[in-house]
Amino acid sequence: MGLAEYNRKRNFGITREPPGDAPAKPRPDGARAYLIQKHAASRLHYDFRLELDGVLLSWSVPKGPSLDPREKRLAVHVEDHPLAYGDFEGIIPKGQYGGGTVLLWDRGTWEPQENPHAGYAKGNLKFTLKGEKLHGGFALIRLGGRRAREEGDKAWLLIKERDGEAREDGLDLTQTRPESVVSGRTLEEIAADRSSVWHSKPSHVDVAGAPGAREAPLPVRPKPPRAAARRKAPEGDDWLHEIAIPGIRVLARNERSRISLYSDRGTPLPAKAARKDRPIGDAVRMLPAETLLVDGIVAPLTEGGDQLGYFLFDLLYLDGRDLTRVPLLRRKELLEELVRRAGEGSLRYVEHIAGGGADFHREACRLGIAEMVGEREVSMKGRPRHRSRCRRGFG
Ligand code: MN
Repeated sequence: MGLAEYNRKRNFGITREPPGDAPAKPRPDGARAYLIQKHAASRLHYDFRLELDGVLLSWSVPKGPSLDPREKRLAVHVEDHPLAYGDFEGIIPKGQYGGGTVLLWDRGTWEPQENPHAGYAKGNLKFTLKGEKLHGGFALIRLGGRRAREEGDKAWLLIKERDGEAREDGLDLTQTRPESVVSGRTLEEIAADRSSVWHSKPSHVDVAGAPGAREAPLPVRPKPPRAAARRKAPEGDDWLHEIAIPGIRVLARNERSRISLYSDRGTPLPAKAARKDRPIGDAVRMLPAETLLVDGIVAPLTEGGDQLGYFLFDLLYLDGRDLTRVPLLRRKELLEELVRRAGEGSLRYVEHIAGGGADFHREACRLGIAEMVGEREVSMKGRPRHRSRCRRGFG
């Protein structure tokens, strides 16, 4: 099947985070990689993968492998995956394809017992596994018949061969050895650690096509536009209006999973604020981007609650491009898509309305909202952000 379908589903290419881990390369000894990833997606399953011709042939096995030759485990053939995916363990954000937690359950090498290309093509692949948990002979057999054809020939069976490694005593390795072979962690422990996140890249959002986007290095000291206080909301259709969320304005910079936070004056906040166990740093890592600069407000997710959220209203930089000359509305569209793809969590996208500043101001004050922010659609000279407050006792 090749990687075309994989790339189509994810749009393009894959980058692993955090970086510094080289993607898996074919082994010099010619041995082929074998691995199983336990994947808590909408339904828990085990992704069984065999390297062939530079990709990972992949089957999704709902019950996982069995050591008992009498147990024929359904294995749904899925698209090939890149070799680099094979050592991934961590989180795929919920808004993305395959969203959920991935645990590397077994890994090693495999050897075909016959010509693997012929066996794969005819739906009868026999092989020997040399894993950390699984050993010995196995077979993957494509189901035949009309029903199988109707299902696009995707239904296969994973069966243990009768050999010295087979067990018929009911031992279930998925139960007795649930842990990761790389980290010893459980799914729950991996799910709680946001430092390893897998994203579809580039960001699915069309940043290169945004008018005004310029290739530029990620700024080290951002210069956020400060808001001018005004009595009235600015008028004109080139202004967007938002409710000002009471909280602390913070800019977040992600350079390949290294998070830095800045105040609204562009001053760096203490490094510990962005540590990987802190909610804002973790949240920003979930945005599908290698490099990015966002602007938003840190505030409780719910009124009176303890849990902090990050309410984003602007995207200043994304994956190699400065966006400050991109029309604000387009930046917000890109940002909204990134937040959607980050999945559920502590990120929020701040909604706005375009134009009608006076009406918005009046209505917001009537609802008891204290403050509004207006942002100019295309920034020109002067302050592109205005804050306006409701008069005391109004409404
Ligand atoms: Mn999967």
